[in-house]
Amino acid sequence: MPIKVLAPEVISKIAAGEVIERPASVVKELVENSLDAGATQIAIEAQGGGVELIKVSDNGAGIPAAEVELAFHRYATSKIGNLDDLQRISSLGFRGEALPSIAAVAEVEISTQASSESVGSYLHLRKGEVVRKESHARPMGTTVTVHRLFRYFPARLKFLKSVSTENSHIAHLVSQYALAFPEVKFSLVFDKRPSLRTMGNGDLREVVGEIYGAELAQRMLKVEQKDGLAKVSGLISPPSLARSNRNYLSFFVNRRWVRSPLLTRATEEAFHGLLMDGQHPIAVINISLPVQELDVNVHPAKAQIKFCQEQTIFANVKKAIEEALARTSIASSKTVPFSVNLEHWEKPRMVMDNEPVFMVAQLPTMELPVLRVLGQLANTYIIAEGPDGLYLIDQHAAHERILYDRISAQWVQKEVEAQGLLQPITIELSPREEETLKTSQELLAQFGFAIEPFGNRSYLIRTIPAQVARANPDGIGIEIITMLLDDLASKDSLTPWEEKIIQSLACHGAIRAGQQLSHEEMRELIKQLEQTKQPRACPHGRPTMIHLSAHQLEREFGRIG
Ligand code: ADP
Ligand code: MG
Repeated sequence: MPIKVLAPEVISKIAAGEVIERPASVVKELVENSLDAGATQIAIEAQGGGVELIKVSDNGAGIPAAEVELAFHRYATSKIGNLDDLQRISSLGFRGEALPSIAAVAEVEISTQASSESVGSYLHLRKGEVVRKESHARPMGTTVTVHRLFRYFPARLKFLKSVSTENSHIAHLVSQYALAFPEVKFSLVFDKRPSLRTMGNGDLREVVGEIYGAELAQRMLKVEQKDGLAKVSGLISPPSLARSNRNYLSFFVNRRWVRSPLLTRATEEAFHGLLMDGQHPIAVINISLPVQELDVNVHPAKAQIKFCQEQTIFANVKKAIEEALARTSIASSKTVPFSVNLEHWEKPRMVMDNEPVFMVAQLPTMELPVLRVLGQLANTYIIAEGPDGLYLIDQHAAHERILYDRISAQWVQKEVEAQGLLQPITIELSPREEETLKTSQELLAQFGFAIEPFGNRSYLIRTIPAQVARANPDGIGIEIITMLLDDLASKDSLTPWEEKIIQSLACHGAIRAGQQLSHEEMRELIKQLEQTKQPRACPHGRPTMIHLSAHQLEREFGRIG
């Protein structure tokens, strides 16, 4: 075939194919146009996964009657006028391609009224050609309706997935714009079923609540950094609230939703050491920077951007998130984990993707900041770094506190979990111990001990409290029972027996000093400690940790007077 210039309708379909990949791409372009028009309310409706119908209505500036047709010409835009403008784009659109692209692959109706005019206009296009045009009255704003998407593009239609998959792409996209524009009221309806509605009151946390749930929203930490090349603001999850994939990371640069490996990396590096492998944070990060620091014209769907000073932006974002993490105290989030466990200590629970990972329990807490584990000292103390200096944590005392809180919580609920032993333990008791056992056997049963007489002061122990069993994966010794009985028989008659049992189980069930822990185990231990009522003291009131503040260190080293 000789070389020839392609016919315009072929060109427009090729170009449309780049801009409009699937129904969500249409929604994206239309929502961007509404936002560029200054709309404060945007209603989105999709039917049949967006293939049958997509309708986006806004209360924005509208299009003057004389320009409506022009808007459907390729490279027709009101947003930039010359080459210079391309260097400082502040609108979401600028390529003048969306409306003609959509019209090239679907049937389109537009109804619009500009603020400056007294009457609105209506246009109906098929195969990119106007088939009907009239004046009509409507409130200020624009409604674009797209029927039978890809009707003129059957190849693309074949690649589309199920209605629910396409809907989920649309929902994700609208959610992102809602997060980027909390001051805009969004509503999304699928086949007449409301899916998302935001208030448009400018509160990012409220939008996060609508999308990810109020409980999660309430626990998100505020990111705010005003100096540096880029201003960084938004919300991030505390380390205790992780997800198993990166779908919960949203980045907006000058309010444009972008996918950016650079920003993802900056965020994840800020969380380094705070999350387990395979865990990812939830983040909504807004970055605003001078337009000349940015090239937005690198992708047909404008989903990617290029920063002029990548390293600076990277450092800026990482620092902003690190500061937010350091500022906060885990304790203020008042939660009890049910999936974060030391591998050997508690059975991990499978967490569904959409399920909130943590339950909220309102506990009065003594605040403990986010700590980063550095190592173990003498197989006894965990060395950790916090926002204000160094922490030495007594591993036994810390674990004792954790067990104490867990067992008491179960006791209060009257449901102390028992665990069967593969190999029942046989113990021989002294007469005194036997007496103690006889008087306490009923109570011990409520704590998960199934103890049977085995003749001659011998007893068989078949079940023990699950918390203690999990803390001692290598098998529970006879000592723990005898020590428990000893503690019960102790002279202290003021402490109720229940309390004695809980204290004893926590003390004898906890890991010992001298036990080597892996980095992961130490991190888990600290994470669990953060969730306790009094992370700084063991049940006997002794400290679980020693804190050397940055100020103390500086003084000790003679850096300050
Ligand atoms: P771009 O957004 O890149 O300018 P589009 O093809 O998306 O190109 O839109 C063409 C023009 O139509 C826009 O520049 C704008 O002037 C006008 N327009 C499109 N949608 C709207 C809307 N919802 N409200 C007001 N004006 C609109
Ligand atoms: Mg546009």
